[in-house]
Amino acid sequence: MVEPIFDYQFRLILIGDSTVGKSSLLKYFTDGKFAELSDPTVGVDFFARLIDVDDGTRIKLQLWDTAGQERFRSITKSYYRNSVGALLVYDVCNRASFEHIPQWMMEARRHIEPHRPVFALVGCKLDLVTNGARREVSREEARTFADQNGVHHIETSAKTGVNVTEAFRAVTQEVYNRIKTGEYKVEDGWDGIKTGFARPGGLDFNLVEAEPAKSSCC
Ligand code: GDP
Ligand code: MG
Repeated sequence: MVEPIFDYQFRLILIGDSTVGKSSLLKYFTDGKFAELSDPTVGVDFFARLIDVDDGTRIKLQLWDTAGQERFRSITKSYYRNSVGALLVYDVCNRASFEHIPQWMMEARRHIEPHRPVFALVGCKLDLVTNGARREVSREEARTFADQNGVHHIETSAKTGVNVTEAFRAVTQEVYNRIKTGEYKVEDGWDGIKTGFARPGGLDFNLVEAEPAKSSCC
């Protein structure tokens, strides 16, 4: 099999209360369809999808799902540690899921340290509101929270697909911007950002300062 060509790989996680729609969002993003029956206990490890950022740089996203382990503290540290960003997911028709977002955010910050994670606040199941269900989190309130925390906010539906790609794109672009400003570097022993296979004739993506060679080879 030919490995698809990409310039970087970013590892992102989806966090938020159980049943808010994380797995469905991932499924839609990677498969282009809504899976009506999603089994919260089936442990899907990760999904992958290629996405281009504004200057055409190609990013492979490695997207990790919590697989039903959403209770606080039950998520292992390495799940966070090896990530560069997180989608903070709540359900627009579930007030409690929004109120738990600050805790999810803190938990992610704590474990992703020393890196400063990129977040996007993602309100799911927008189609329910369109179909008459009672909205429990207003767009304005979520936007205010997002602005106060300097994160992107977006409302989506894994059923209709509205804004699904945009949610992932927002995080991806921000991670890439931070590579360009030098805040993020590719580091040995951290899976948050990795270099990929540069396209022939493309830029040299050797971002890290070269470590002194350990062997005395050539
Ligand atoms: P998770 O526990 O956060 O991974 O949530 P799931 O993706 O398993 O979704 C929980 C339930 O909500 C499932 O029954 C899904 O079919 C449903 N669901 C997820 N996303 C949407 C959505 O955008 N719209 C609607 N109407 N239902 C959704
Ligand atoms: Mg799930």
